[in-house]
Amino acid sequence: MRCEREHEVKDLLGRGHWPQASGEELRVHVAGCGKCGDLVMVSQAFRGARATAMQSAPAMAPGLIWWRAQVRRRQSALEQIARPVWGAQIFALAVTVLLGVGLVVVETRRGFDWQKGAQALHLEALLPMGGDGLEMVLLAACVGLVAVLGGVVVYLGMERR
Ligand SMILES: [Zn+2]
Repeated sequence: MRCEREHEVKDLLGRGHWPQASGEELRVHVAGCGKCGDLVMVSQAFRGARATAMQSAPAMAPGLIWWRAQVRRRQSALEQIARPVWGAQIFALAVTVLLGVGLVVVETRRGFDWQKGAQALHLEALLPMGGDGLEMVLLAACVGLVAVLGGVVVYLGMERR
């Protein structure tokens, strides 16, 4: 059995206008009608429970929310920067290793005396006295320069993307 005023009461409850916006005549009806009375009682019980739950929930300060958002934003920005730098470092390392291996292979084919080469790596080889030592230093400088330039090129290319 439905009450013909139930819809009206439900509408007021849904909009949160009960009992302020209801007329005196409707309030008298709800007090007398079991169906509408139950509807109002259940709805107000739910509303009260929700209000107490909202009050007991710890409200986060707006400053804290803002600070957390800033930290999250900064972390994602750092991750975006770190990725290309990491890639450039790997590329530079790969180029250095490849050039080093290539240098060893070429020098061995040309009949490079490794004992003499080891002597050339001593500190006195840095002084431009022995031709072999100077050649080694220049080659090492060239390999380093190429590796650094390769890393810079890869970094710039990734940044433009
Ligand atoms: Zn009713």
